[in-house]
Amino acid sequence: MPGTNLTRDEAATRAALLDVTSYSIDLDLTTGDTTFGSTTTIRFTCAEPGADTFADLVGAEVHEITLNGESIDPATAYADSRIALSGLAAENELVVRADCTYSRTGEGLHRFVDPADDRVYLYSQFEVPDARRVYTTFEQPDLKAPFTFNVTAPAHWKVVSNSPTPEPEPLDEGRAVWRFAPTKPMSTYITAIVAGEYHEVQHVYHGKHGDIPLGHYCRQSLVEHLDVDELVKITKQSFAFFEEQFDYPYPFGKYDQLYVPEYNMGAMENAGCVTLRDEYLPRSRQPRSFYEFRCSVITHEMAHMWFGDLVTMKWWDDLWLNESFAEWACYWCEAEVTEFTDAWTGFANARKQTGYRQDQLPSTHPIAADNYDLQAVEVNFDMITYAKGASVLKQLVAWVGLEPFLQGLRQYFKDFEYSNSEFSDLLAALEKASGRELSGWAKEWLQTAGVNTLSPVFELDAEGAYSSFSVSQSAPADWPTLRRHRLGIGLYDEVDGRLVRRTSFEVDVEGPTTQVAELVGEKQPDLLLLNEGDLAYAKVRLDERSLATGIAGLSKLDDSLARAIVWGAAWDMTRDAEMSATDFVALVLANIGQETDAWGVSRIPTYALQAVNLYSAPEHRAELRQRFESGLRELLLAAEPGSDQQLTFARTYAAVAHSDQAIADLEALLDGGLEIEGLAVDQDLRWTLVTALAVNGREGDRIETEAAADNTISGQEHAAAARASRPTAEAKAEAWELAMVRDDVANETQRSVVLAFQRVGQDDVLAPYVEKYLEAADTMWEEKGTQRASTALEFIFPKQLASQELLDRVDAWLESSSANPAAKRYVREGRADVARALAAQVKDAE
Ligand SMILES: [Zn+2]
Repeated sequence: MPGTNLTRDEAATRAALLDVTSYSIDLDLTTGDTTFGSTTTIRFTCAEPGADTFADLVGAEVHEITLNGESIDPATAYADSRIALSGLAAENELVVRADCTYSRTGEGLHRFVDPADDRVYLYSQFEVPDARRVYTTFEQPDLKAPFTFNVTAPAHWKVVSNSPTPEPEPLDEGRAVWRFAPTKPMSTYITAIVAGEYHEVQHVYHGKHGDIPLGHYCRQSLVEHLDVDELVKITKQSFAFFEEQFDYPYPFGKYDQLYVPEYNMGAMENAGCVTLRDEYLPRSRQPRSFYEFRCSVITHEMAHMWFGDLVTMKWWDDLWLNESFAEWACYWCEAEVTEFTDAWTGFANARKQTGYRQDQLPSTHPIAADNYDLQAVEVNFDMITYAKGASVLKQLVAWVGLEPFLQGLRQYFKDFEYSNSEFSDLLAALEKASGRELSGWAKEWLQTAGVNTLSPVFELDAEGAYSSFSVSQSAPADWPTLRRHRLGIGLYDEVDGRLVRRTSFEVDVEGPTTQVAELVGEKQPDLLLLNEGDLAYAKVRLDERSLATGIAGLSKLDDSLARAIVWGAAWDMTRDAEMSATDFVALVLANIGQETDAWGVSRIPTYALQAVNLYSAPEHRAELRQRFESGLRELLLAAEPGSDQQLTFARTYAAVAHSDQAIADLEALLDGGLEIEGLAVDQDLRWTLVTALAVNGREGDRIETEAAADNTISGQEHAAAARASRPTAEAKAEAWELAMVRDDVANETQRSVVLAFQRVGQDDVLAPYVEKYLEAADTMWEEKGTQRASTALEFIFPKQLASQELLDRVDAWLESSSANPAAKRYVREGRADVARALAAQVKDAE
């Protein structure tokens, strides 16, 4: 029984048989609050008349199926999310009339009623296989076709899709129909429908290949937060950059960006109809890293218009390439043409760290995963796909050179426009352009898992110069591949109180030991930095002197990327139990006040918080937490008024607050008794403070008061999170019900509860949830679906109860449970985090 699965072989068989001529989809969004009408007409040819195949449709009530004018009984033909089609002709017309269900999980056609004003908003989200929740499909990326959408909706709504929005034709009873023109050929997963009482603003980009209409949309209750000038500026900068660099006109006519509610990811690259989470239109003060990330998202989705939408992967095996490319391209674009010129430093401080983390979990996999079916795609879609993939593409660009890389890319877009390709096609184009053989490179980087560690090994002569120098490369035992790296090396000396770069150069590292002749005879610097420029994807180690220099004087280093490498090395060493949590926290407290990189400022304090909560030895955790709390208080009070540092320190102070003084501070900030110059205690910061009080059981009636004053969906989500944070058995029971049991809780509310559930210092009330978690993991994937189950199982794992006993219990479960592999994966990852924490705790106890 296939359920909702689909194998690569089935897809290949179907693609060999069929050629889809066109889709015509009629949606009626006026039939009620829970379902909508969906009539699909697919015209397609069949290479072997008489053959059988199937179409896809999930969770629908099918009223009528007609194939080539002959009626088929849905009761027999529609089962397991498939419509069986037999006796195909050379040319076919399939018509399916059905009712489909609105989603509350962000999968398919999501329906949202804004609590602020009761207005209705819909949007679709289809990647990977969810177009089939909205219309009848051949749900695989390589059966591209033009799509014609006809949408019936209330006449006062906006309706947006991949084609430009037509004038609606009025119908009776306040309804209208929007008849969209056929799209360019595209895959089902990038088609889209967004409808509702959205606010709309239109601009035009005058580009080198002509005009592109730019629409921006959001909910009515967010209009005041739609900073459209900024969004348009970034959009225009990115279009100018990509049209020039890719040497190919934007392929989809108009470009709408729609900020939508309760969105699961950052955004989705629907062709010409990009959807983004509407938290990106913030109502409260946000640090620069927030805007830097939003800019990354905007440019990432735009890069997909060429890489993904114009040229599309044949099957999900190349999903990594799709995402890695968009990731790499977005940072490249951001650094080149937007105000976020330090984007690669931000990448090193934040995004790349998520790739390193993921790659050291037991669930790691080669970047190019073997996605033999849709379930495998679910298991393999993670930060290897995005962050590691982008890091490795950055390394590839360093390996072949940017210009040859772009030459190959430009040819690739032309050769595969509006069709499908595989990674080997791109590799061939790059080999041709660069003259470098790349299949060996691809094999070691893409078909093997794990991260290498690069360390300096040297001897000094009597004068303190290097008499020998090599880079030593190691690999974890489970993933023993050693790779070729293009590696930057930087030498820094302390001059007049600053750490100044003496020189830097690049070398090719290969095998366990690479001699670096350039350094022989060179005087040992105060700081020797491997991975200068962050070209390599590898963990790096600092020698003893360099580590001492880095720790004592990180803020003397002017280059933000060089600092990011030192921060990263220190964090790595802490996670690897080579540096104590206590030392890492001291490093952060001493240097974060002078950090200038936006991501460094906002992300590094969260690493320190993790060091306190998870990696500190239990016997001095209370003392370290107190030191961190006091240190943050000092940093907060000393920070420049209105700065990002000030905001971040306020948030982190709230997150660690536990002493009576800190609690009193939070209360006073909320009540106005304490004012910190430049720190606006706005709605989101108020929720941060209220939640911090709730964690400590000191919230009183503040949650309900705050919720009453903040009648928005964010307010409801924050309130749910604050309630879930409370240290009582009743609060946890109520939160568990919302997060794990009920089906009517919207995706983003569930996520808020899940993220708030596990708290440090609540061991007594959380202890019973180890068994409950494992019990849920047994069946949750099947019972709750991908979105709910993955969110819950990843983030509600009882990590901070780290103990040998917990490891043993989880091991026993892993041994005996027959849970879905995707569910087991999250349990295995949680277990690995616990094991890592226990090792780090031992180091910290020394
Ligand atoms: Zn993407």
